[in-house]
Amino acid sequence: MSYFKTREYGDGVHMLWETLGVGSFLIVGVDKALLIDTGYGFGDIAAAASEIAKKPIIVVNSHVHPDHSMGNNQFERVLIGAGDMWKLEDGALQSEYEEMIGFAASYFPPLKLIVKHNEKIPKSTHCQTEYAPLAAGDAIDLGGRVIEAVEMPGHTRGSVVFLDRAAKTVFAGDAVNRGMFLFIDKDLKLARYAERLDKLAELKGFSAILTSHSTKPLSFSFVKYYADFLLRAVVPKRKPSPMPLSEKKVCRYSEKSREYGDVSVFFYAGQEREA
Ligand SMILES: [Zn+2]
Repeated sequence: MSYFKTREYGDGVHMLWETLGVGSFLIVGVDKALLIDTGYGFGDIAAAASEIAKKPIIVVNSHVHPDHSMGNNQFERVLIGAGDMWKLEDGALQSEYEEMIGFAASYFPPLKLIVKHNEKIPKSTHCQTEYAPLAAGDAIDLGGRVIEAVEMPGHTRGSVVFLDRAAKTVFAGDAVNRGMFLFIDKDLKLARYAERLDKLAELKGFSAILTSHSTKPLSFSFVKYYADFLLRAVVPKRKPSPMPLSEKKVCRYSEKSREYGDVSVFFYAGQEREA
């Protein structure tokens, strides 16, 4: 049985889902395919993607977090947001990886053993992969369709979303979703991020957003909804809780939306206030 559960969305769009709760996307064009993210690196994502694409694959990361990029070492070249390049150099990704595995293992104890005994799992983030930065407005031509990269710093400094006009879909990684981590840059005001989302929401011709931690597409109208939601966020009365990749305890503000269900944002107290 394959490690990845594959799901097809039509228009040449596929998801490779991992049971640990993350998906990588494959967009198949006429000449080439684009793989957005490489997952935890536990499965042979290069083989799984090739089997579907049957053509050369360009690899990008929506952002450099371990659950999106630990499979990078299976590829020769990976494009990442310029703002995340630093993470590959000073061991930041490696320590995030260890922290995330520790956190995930507290919910799923066998995970620590799986990681320890699986030879395929990268023990280190150092690899032969060549990295190149994606610039704002970069267009990736797959033949018959062009995927545009849009910088969306916030979840990480180098987060990028990808626009696929052919499928009327935005591939958002973790830069738009129903439960966003926005505490990674504690100087980022939620209102600034809401402005970035407002700009994205103004784009015409999109109907869906695919995010990395759910198999279900969100309606494109969610972008505007979430921008407004961020402006309503306040520090809740209940105690903040520990989160992976955070220095101290993180607040969670949430609302129940009739259209989108439970919606939340994780942030440090102070980010909700204007400077
Ligand atoms: Zn992330």
